Amino acid sequence: MRHLIEPTDLSSAELDEILTLALDIIANREKYSEVCKGKKLATLFYEPSTRTRLSFTSAMMELGGNVLGFSDANSSSVSKGETVADTTKVINCFADIIAMRHPVEGAPLVSALNSRTPVINAGDGSHAHPTQTLTDLLTIKRELGRTDNLTIGFCGDLKFGRTVHSLIKALSKFKNINVVLIAPEELRLPGYMKQEVCDKLGVPYREVKSLEEVIGDLDVLYMTRVQKERFLDEEEYERVKDCFVLTADKLRDAKPEMRILHPLPRVNEIATDVDADPRAAYFRQVENGKFVRMALILKLLEWAQQPERDRALISGDVIKGEHICSNPKCISNTEAHAVESMLRPSADGNGLRCVYCEHRPAK
Ligand code: ASP
Repeated sequence: MRHLIEPTDLSSAELDEILTLALDIIANREKYSEVCKGKKLATLFYEPSTRTRLSFTSAMMELGGNVLGFSDANSSSVSKGETVADTTKVINCFADIIAMRHPVEGAPLVSALNSRTPVINAGDGSHAHPTQTLTDLLTIKRELGRTDNLTIGFCGDLKFGRTVHSLIKALSKFKNINVVLIAPEELRLPGYMKQEVCDKLGVPYREVKSLEEVIGDLDVLYMTRVQKERFLDEEEYERVKDCFVLTADKLRDAKPEMRILHPLPRVNEIATDVDADPRAAYFRQVENGKFVRMALILKLLEWAQQPERDRALISGDVIKGEHICSNPKCISNTEAHAVESMLRPSADGNGLRCVYCEHRPAK
């Protein structure tokens, strides 16, 4: 069975297949209007979402399929203490494919490990958001005509922003990508992303503290919201919440063909006077999210029928049950009674990483 838990679950060829299919869907909407007739998508959303949930719903409806699920964990058996594994086995009896969003990191992986149908990670804590990545890549392809040879600036909350982590991982599959990380000290990209993704997978990056000094170099400016809900310390959030605000004025030095992306929702990091600029691609990006999710649902349902497409969810040497993950928001801690801890050697050969959330074990 194939799932999408991390952007790196897809090979370069598969990424290309999905983007190409999304472009065909855009050009021939009618042709796809009944291809999922009789199929059901379950949207299991344990955390608030507007775009992602509705875009999955709308995607399945446009394919002629049906949607069931919940958008509030309190209205499901989760509030009675049901584990992710048990909920998945139950939903397997009702739906052909699952999209799960969860505040706990690693929850979609646990779901996939227990599922008879494809599982899509629709965002897990501050860990990963691979369908936003597909959305971003389709947007870049449509707006700039290419996904290679790009200088991409990531601005704002690079620490907790799961969309940033996932897009950087996927960019490792493309040629001649340069990443510029624009963030205050407190919100810098986590070390594992720099050492084990950028360095290891060959994504050159530089870190800067001001947007103005680099804006003229960028082909894409990826703005992000400061993720209030992920801070353990309210004061720290207050200190950094207004760190970067993009205004029409600041765009003066940007290239005319540069594109501004944002996974949304925005708070105050992009002033509304930017919206009318043709470089502002974030609302077009939302619609691309629906098309690319249509393509993904179709591909995963197709691959589910092709055993030669199967791939192990966890590969390599894994140490089971011996360590506790240092991340309190990891599923191996929140469901410790049901989920066995699993660690593997880190990509830089420097210690161990949790299989579910990529944090190091507690000392
Ligand atoms: N919508 C994105 C996410 O779910 C970005 C955000 O919430 O700021 O990660």
